[in-house]
Amino acid sequence: METSHTTSTVDRKAILKGVRSVVVKIGTNALSGADGHLDNQLIGHFAEQVAGLVARGIQVTMVSSGAIGAGITELGLPGRPKELPLLQASASVGQSILMRLFAAAFKPHGMHVGQILITRGDFEHRGRYLNLRNCIQALQKCKAIPIVNENDSVAVAEIKFGDNDLIAAQVTNLLRADLLILLTVVDGLLDASGQTIAVVQDVEDASGNVDSKKKSSHGTGGMGSKLFAAGTVKTAGEPVMIANGKRPNVIRDLLDGVETGTLILPASRKLSSRSRWIGLTARTLGTLIVDDGAAKALRANKSLLASGIVEIKGEFEAGDAVLIMDKNGVTVARGLTNYTHVEITKIRGHKSGEFAQLLDMETYYDEVIHRDDLVVET
Ligand code: GLU
Repeated sequence: METSHTTSTVDRKAILKGVRSVVVKIGTNALSGADGHLDNQLIGHFAEQVAGLVARGIQVTMVSSGAIGAGITELGLPGRPKELPLLQASASVGQSILMRLFAAAFKPHGMHVGQILITRGDFEHRGRYLNLRNCIQALQKCKAIPIVNENDSVAVAEIKFGDNDLIAAQVTNLLRADLLILLTVVDGLLDASGQTIAVVQDVEDASGNVDSKKKSSHGTGGMGSKLFAAGTVKTAGEPVMIANGKRPNVIRDLLDGVETGTLILPASRKLSSRSRWIGLTARTLGTLIVDDGAAKALRANKSLLASGIVEIKGEFEAGDAVLIMDKNGVTVARGLTNYTHVEITKIRGHKSGEFAQLLDMETYYDEVIHRDDLVVET
C-alpha cells in the first residue's frame, strides 16, 4: 500500500518550489452554483487566483469544462441530451457563453483570454501538436490566459478525447509544465471511508482504493479518469494535485504547500518533450512482437533491431508510432519506426547486412527503431 494519509514524509513545499508553469483544469460543477448554472462569483474568484499566480511569475494554462452545461441551461433543455447533435448544439451555444464569462472575469486584472478548441487529432499529429504549443506560448506572451476545451461541436466518438482531465494531462505534457492541478468538487481522492488521500505514490495502487466511476452531474470524468490522466503526467516526471475547486483560494494554497487535496508524486525521471509525445501522446498504428533478447536490449536502452522481431501486427508507414511487446503481451516500449510494416515483414529475423538485398535499396537504416526514438515502459 503506497497511498498515504500522512504527510510527514512528503515536503510539499520542496516539491512545488520550482514551479514556473502550471496547467489548471476546472470542472463544470466547480464553476456552477447550487442551481447547476455557471456562477459568476465562482468564475470571478477563479480568475482572481489565476491572476495571482501570473503576478508571481507563474505561467498558467487553463482547461475548462462548462460549455455543454451552459448550453443546456441557455437552450432551456430539461437535462443533458442523449442525442449527439443536440449535445453538439449545446456545446456550440455554451462555449461562447463560457468564454464571455471568463473574459469579463479576467478583465479587471488587466488580462485577456484566448479560446483553444481541440480534438484528439491535434495531439496525435505531430505538426498540429507543435502548432498548439506555439499558440499557447504566444497567448502567454500577450498576457492572455489560454483556455482549452474539447471542440465538442464537431468532436464525435472517433475524434474525441471524451474528458477534460485527459486533455489537461496532454496539455501539461505538451508544455512540459511543472504541475497539473485538477479542480473538482470533492477534496481530492477519497478512500473507501471518505477520507482524503493526501499523497499517492503509485497510481495503479490508488486506482484500487477509490470509487473510480463516481462522477458529478454535468461532468464527464470521474476519479478513475483523473487518476488515469494523472498517471500520464506522473510518468512524464511532473506532479499532479487534485483538489476542491470550491475551496476559497485553493490554487494559491496548493502552490504554497498547504495540506489540502491529493498530491500525486512524479516519477523520478523527467521525459524530454519528444519522448513525451512518443510515449504518452502519439497514436500507435501497429505492434511489433520481439523475442526475449530484444526485449532485454530495449530495457537497457538499446535500439530495436530487425533480428529480434518475431511478429508484426497492423499497417503503418515509416515515421509512425508503434507499440513493442514481448512474447507474453507485455508492452516493452513505444517508438517511431524507420520502416513500414511491409518492409519489416521482409527484414525481420535478419541482420542489417542483408537489408540492401532483402529490400532492394542502396541505403537503409541499421535499426528498425533507433534508441533516440524509443520510450521504454517503466
Ligand atoms: N468539454 C465538456 C464541456 O465543456 C466537458 C468535458 C468534461 O467535463 O470532461 O462541457
